[in-house]
Amino acid sequence: MSTQAETFEFQAESRKLLQLMVHAIYSNKDTFLRELVSNASDALDKVRLESFRDKDLEVDTSDPHILIEADRQHRTLTVRDNGIGMSRDEVQDLIGTIAKSGTAELLQQLKETQDGAAAQELIGQFGLGFYASFMVADRVTLLTRRVGESTGTRWDSTGEGTYTIETVEEAPQGTAVTLHLKAEDQEDSLLDYTDSTTITNIVKRYSDFISWPIRMEVERTDSEGTTTRQLETINSMKALWARPKEEVAEEEYREFYKHISHDWNDPLETIHLRAEGTIEYQALLFIPSVAPFDLFTRDHKRGVQLYVKRVFIMDDCEELLPEYLRFVKGVVDAQDLSLNVSREILQQDRQIQMMRRRLVKKVLSTVKDMMSEDPDRYAKFWDQFGQAVKEGLLNDVDNREQILEIASFESTHDPESRTTLREYIERMKDSQDTIYYITGSSRSKVENSPHIEAFRDKGMEVLLLTDPVDEMWVESVPEFDGKRFQSIAKGQVDLDGKDEDGKDTEREQEFADVLSWMSTKLADDVKEVRLSSRLSSSPACVVSDSDDMGPTLEKMYRAMGHELPPVKRILEVNPDHPLVSGMRESYDRNGQSRELEETAELLHGMALLAEGGELREPAQFTSLLANRLAQTL
Ligand code: ADP
Repeated sequence: MSTQAETFEFQAESRKLLQLMVHAIYSNKDTFLRELVSNASDALDKVRLESFRDKDLEVDTSDPHILIEADRQHRTLTVRDNGIGMSRDEVQDLIGTIAKSGTAELLQQLKETQDGAAAQELIGQFGLGFYASFMVADRVTLLTRRVGESTGTRWDSTGEGTYTIETVEEAPQGTAVTLHLKAEDQEDSLLDYTDSTTITNIVKRYSDFISWPIRMEVERTDSEGTTTRQLETINSMKALWARPKEEVAEEEYREFYKHISHDWNDPLETIHLRAEGTIEYQALLFIPSVAPFDLFTRDHKRGVQLYVKRVFIMDDCEELLPEYLRFVKGVVDAQDLSLNVSREILQQDRQIQMMRRRLVKKVLSTVKDMMSEDPDRYAKFWDQFGQAVKEGLLNDVDNREQILEIASFESTHDPESRTTLREYIERMKDSQDTIYYITGSSRSKVENSPHIEAFRDKGMEVLLLTDPVDEMWVESVPEFDGKRFQSIAKGQVDLDGKDEDGKDTEREQEFADVLSWMSTKLADDVKEVRLSSRLSSSPACVVSDSDDMGPTLEKMYRAMGHELPPVKRILEVNPDHPLVSGMRESYDRNGQSRELEETAELLHGMALLAEGGELREPAQFTSLLANRLAQTL
């Protein structure tokens, strides 16, 4: 077998990130050890599981542990585990590339950020795992052998563009990562990573809760002054979630969060829960402070790990939290499940379902408390995760009311901050019995859309819903607290509170002829042309019929590949606008004409443009408009 080392190049993106690491901008370099220990701990979890599932596997699980070895003379630090190890292919895939989705976006954002602290935050949010080693080392070697395989793999890199991979005949089970420490770090006594006290302190700080022993040779001086070196376990191995809340320090929660989430930021909120009684479990959940880059990609994993009686069972346990809470990270430790529980069993397990119900309620109520106790923190939460939470309005009917309670929306009431539905209702006029909203792609578009004019004039508040998911949930959520949701771009609105009989019938009759003529002329594009009560300064707007889908939703469905019949909308015109009253006079006086027909087309086009919509035939519209303008010169 060839043992020759093959050289590979890092992908361009990985290389850029590595360069950032090598010339590190972090203030806290110690965290590299947390990343390595965390990986080693995961590898031990995996080997335990695998040996459990596959009884024939040739594997040593007699003494799973992590060993940290420092070599002062050669200035190296090695983190060794006897866990699952990696095959050659895995080394290439997992270590040779920073394969995380979002790398490109990260680099783009870094390019746009001038500010160093912001850049650091961005990278932190991304998490660099194994690569963090290059903050303190100018060369890293990794020797690994996967359980069940007979040969091992050595990976070697200075982090400067290339790495080598070599197959080796002899290697112990698991992985050893050796850092050749940078010289400059050695000069700083605080950062002597070959000193066992330094390492012990870092481990205690970041990794104390790791459930496997982390061992290191430590120097001990006895009362007679004799110094001996002995192997000690330097972490307490206490499962954080199993300890009473009162006894866990904030910092321990934070470090635990970083361990399980691979996020470098502190969590926004910690939820520590202990259930006793019919089903017994402990949960330690976290809401991150920053949404991951891939929150809205299809393969985003859910962040809750399942343990049974302190034993790790699986990552991304989908059964424990619904998809719309996929950003929640943490651990759930159930006392009464079987250790060899599978995903199939979980899906039907009644206990899991009860736990899930309880966990969802707890997360939602935590956000609700945050809302009243710390509005700024809540605002931060909603900025990051509101869009995901709103998906729950579609999928989690049982908790709909609760989700609406914790939701907040932009509104015409205040350009600076969002409003809750409760606050909206409190401000509602006495005569108003519905919650008005408009959907669209951006605040500025909907805010300036003609539909909103009369509402603004009358001082009526309108919610401005600009997330794509808003288009969907407003279609399926009928009301909040007995108040119906009503789109101001749909159906009839009657802001004066008059009923059908109170309509301005005289006006209707006056315009009846010209409107019915326009309706036939524009029949390809609109269902109907009618007088509007929602306009004050614009000549016209287009609205959807009450039961039809709005244009954005229609577009979304088409983009998803759904075949839809064309949805025609309604053109509403403002009888008080000189253009519209002028058209009526012209029609009454001269009947139909080519010019009037063109004016009707222009009117329809303008209404579409005003709401930020698209014209069916932009070229035709422009040429009509240009000719008309030419006549005025
Ligand atoms: P992350 O841990 O955030 O996924 P890393 O770059 O630290 O990113 O590691 C990438 C992958 O390499 C891990 O997900 C794991 O599959 C593998 N890996 C890293 N360290 C080890 C190890 N000590 N033993 C086995 N596999 C490892």
